[in-house]
Amino acid sequence: MNIMIVTDMEGVAGIVDFPNWCTPGGVYYDKGKRLSTEEVNAAIRGFMDAGAENIYILDGHGPSSLDIELLDPRAYYIRGSIAASVKFMTDWKIDVFAHVGQHAKSRTEYSQLTHTQGTSYFDETINGISIGIPPIFGSGEEAFCKEALELAPNMETVSVKKGLTPGTGDECTASEYAARNTTAIHVNPIKAREMIYAGAKKAATRYLDDPSQFTLPFSELEPPFVKVVKFRKDQQREDWVKTANTIEEIYSKRLIY
Ligand SMILES: [Zn+2]
Repeated sequence: MNIMIVTDMEGVAGIVDFPNWCTPGGVYYDKGKRLSTEEVNAAIRGFMDAGAENIYILDGHGPSSLDIELLDPRAYYIRGSIAASVKFMTDWKIDVFAHVGQHAKSRTEYSQLTHTQGTSYFDETINGISIGIPPIFGSGEEAFCKEALELAPNMETVSVKKGLTPGTGDECTASEYAARNTTAIHVNPIKAREMIYAGAKKAATRYLDDPSQFTLPFSELEPPFVKVVKFRKDQQREDWVKTANTIEEIYSKRLIY
């Protein structure tokens, strides 16, 4: 079994805010990368102990969420263009996806460091995402776990912190929204790694036992695909609409983050 782990940073236990923890130059950015890398390593250990063969790490945080020198050397590290990476996925024979360090989408209540792409986005929709590879595992904040289970009810999830801010924050500017949802109760990072190891091992064991239990609940939608991005009011931008016949075209210019 070959697994691709898509990583992010805002959903990692112990990460508190954007400027100090998730941004280069922030006083805790290096510590944040270490916390993220150790959660990813815990997932790698769990997957490997359950019998995974190859693990590819797609570093999904804008300025990077990982300290590559601390990353488990058994995993391959990928960074750069989404379109180029997607082309290679067939060669790599990826069977399943997993997510570590994830946060929920923009406008989610009781979610921490909530956003879609960046905090200037109000919402992003697409009429369908052609997903041929099911997710088996996801760790991050609790609201992310709920969001993931709505799409893929059988995947294993591990919640490592819980946001404590009610309301969707629709009235906020981008910078107000970035500062709004920082309050959370965190699982101790050492404990979080133990939970992630156990969850990843269970997910891989279940997949190897019966891959069919991880199929997605919705079928692939037909092209054309229409992506609509709505921005927060202070951005003073019209909705951005893009139509294409493939998902690769929709995301052709997007770098991985
Ligand atoms: Zn991120």
